[in-house]
Order: sequence, then C-alpha cells, then structure tokens
Amino acid sequence: MIPMVDLKTQYHNLKDEIDQAILEALGNTQFILGPNVQSFEKETAAYLGVKHAIACASGTDALHLALRAAGIKAGDEVITTSFTFIATAEAIEYVGAKSVFVDIDPKTFNIDPALIEAAITDKTTAIIPVHLFGQPADMDSIMAIAKKHNLKVIEDCAQSFGADINANMTSSIGDVGCHSFFPSKNLGCYGDGGLITTNDDAIAEQLLMLRNHGSKLRYHHDIIGYNSRLDELQAVILRIKLKRIQEFNAGRRRAAHYYSESLKDLLTPPFEDGIGTHVYHQYTALSSQRDNIMQALTAKNIACAVYYPIPLHQQKVFADQYGKITLPVTEKVASECFSLPIFPELTTAQIDRIVEVIRSAV
Ligand SMILES: *Cc1c(COP(=O)(O)O)cnc(C)c1O
Repeated sequence: MIPMVDLKTQYHNLKDEIDQAILEALGNTQFILGPNVQSFEKETAAYLGVKHAIACASGTDALHLALRAAGIKAGDEVITTSFTFIATAEAIEYVGAKSVFVDIDPKTFNIDPALIEAAITDKTTAIIPVHLFGQPADMDSIMAIAKKHNLKVIEDCAQSFGADINANMTSSIGDVGCHSFFPSKNLGCYGDGGLITTNDDAIAEQLLMLRNHGSKLRYHHDIIGYNSRLDELQAVILRIKLKRIQEFNAGRRRAAHYYSESLKDLLTPPFEDGIGTHVYHQYTALSSQRDNIMQALTAKNIACAVYYPIPLHQQKVFADQYGKITLPVTEKVASECFSLPIFPELTTAQIDRIVEVIRSAV
C-alpha cells in the first residue's frame, strides 16, 4: 500500500519531539493564542520574509479574512482560476463578491496572465492567483497588471508553502498571502489551521481584529469579526515541522524529479516553467490513458487521485452563475490530469514500483 501522503511515517520520525512539546503545552494550559501561536507567527514571518504573519483557523478562513481586510466587498469582481479547490471561490462568495474565472496555462495549470486584462471590468477589485500544486504563478506579470489597474493581489498559497520566486517567498509578493495547514499540505498540522501574511500595517491590524471577534482590546469590539484562531496545540506541531520545511520540500522535489525522469516516455510529467521553485504539493501528470493508469494503480494498492475532476465553473453550486462559460484549457486539463503519491519520505524503490505499474498499463 502506497498512500498519496504518508503522514504516519512522518509522525513516527518526529514522535518524541512532538509528544514532548504537546505534553508541555498541555501543562501550560494557555490553549487560545498562547505562546506557541505567538512564536509560530514570528518564526513564519521570518521564514517567509514578511512583516506580519497572522495565524487563523484554516486556509479557507485565511482567504475570507484576507479579502475582507483588503476591502473586497459586495458587488466587486475578483479574477481567479476555475482550476483550484472550491475554497478559493467560496471566500469570494463570503464577502459578496463574484468570481471571474480566467483560463489556465496548459503546461503549468496556473492562471494565464495573458488572459487577465480582457477579464477586467470597472467592478474588478482583486486578483487571486493560486500557486497550484506548489508551482508559483507568474507573479511578475500578475503584479504588473494589478499595479496598472489598481487591483489588490491575494495569493492563495495553500499548496505552496516554501515555494519562492527569485528568493521571494510566495505570500510575500502580493498584498496578502494565505496559507493552509490542513494535514496533507506541505506544512501540515494535526487538524485545521491557516496563516495570513502581509507587509501592510493597516491590513495586518484588520486581520488581527477579524480573527478574534473584531477586537483589539479584550471586550472592546470595533468591527464584526470571527472566531478564527489557530489552536495552540496545532502551533506546537507546526513549529516543529517548520524547522524541517526546507528538507521536506527538497524531498518532494527529489521524488518528483525521479518520477519525471522515469515516466517521461509514458505520459506528460508536470512542467517546471522556471519562474519559481515548484514544491510539489502534488505530482500531477497528463495522460489520455488516465483511466487505465488509475485502474492499474488502484488494483496494486497504490493511491492516485484526480485534482480536480470538475473545474469550479462546472460545479453544481455555480451552475446558475457560470454554467454557460467555457474554459477550454481548464476543461481539457481536468479531463486528462491525475496525481501520484508524493511526500518527502517517498523512496526511489516505491517510485520504481509505481512506474512499473504505469508502464504495464499504457
Ligand atoms: C487546501 C486549500 C484551501 C483551503 O484550505 P483549508 O485549510 O482546507 O481551509 C484553499 N485553497 C487551495 C488551493 C487549497 O488547496
């Protein structure tokens, strides 16, 4: 059995350190916004090269709070990709704005910057690029368009923790960056968690209030906020894993490159455009024989999955709003893409086994 992500092996490797740190935090009993959350915020701000890092309850909340703090409101249009997890568009809905889906680049699967300007109207106030599967979107082009049209840029970094463009971390380039610490993400905790980054003091001040009932000073509420705090016990785990994130991402890259070398004659391996460092949250390939390959892998107890089988503009929830638009590249990629197991501890022997099964299927 080879899973998509092997959280058990990783926990076993870190068990002594994690167990001890959790016991210590249990003894401290400062469970909400305690010392580990504060330290984690300082440590991630330093690692990501941003002025402010504000922990919250999930990646979805990070996007929602970021949009609110950036002033995106009802009636606004937000340009994003349809080839992403639903949370990107949910957050846009939460603030009453409307998603405007732009097609993707056929090789990187990220939003195609050449198509953004045509989608801008007088209602457009923001762009949410998603660094999909761990590969940074073309931020130079996106930031130039945003500057020209005075738009906010909110980076969805849920899949790109530690990915950089010329030593600038994703989440430090746009106005706000949003991370998820869902267990299977490159930096994952043991429950839900999220983080919002910004270099803008006013946005940071809003975010601090929004995540904690609109309050700067206890029992003084300035705005309607939320209960969206990172749990202290999750912060304990994240601090331990943050120390190893470079090593984890290097392990993912090593595994991905070994896969691509072995698979290049059998399918279309993921494409690295060289704009930034791909941290391989997913190893996603294209094949017209996807169904055969996935059936063969499943029969041999090797996990595989389609991220994402239905682009957002074709989801039932959005059928009324977007059912009539077509995004040819997105739809083609969604019909041929599939993802193979990838995690830092994946061995070359495991990859060899996976490659053999794929070879026998095509
Ligand atoms: C995981 C993910 C999210 C949501 O994060 P949660 O922590 O699960 O709420 C948002 N956007 C993308 C692209 C994701 O992959």
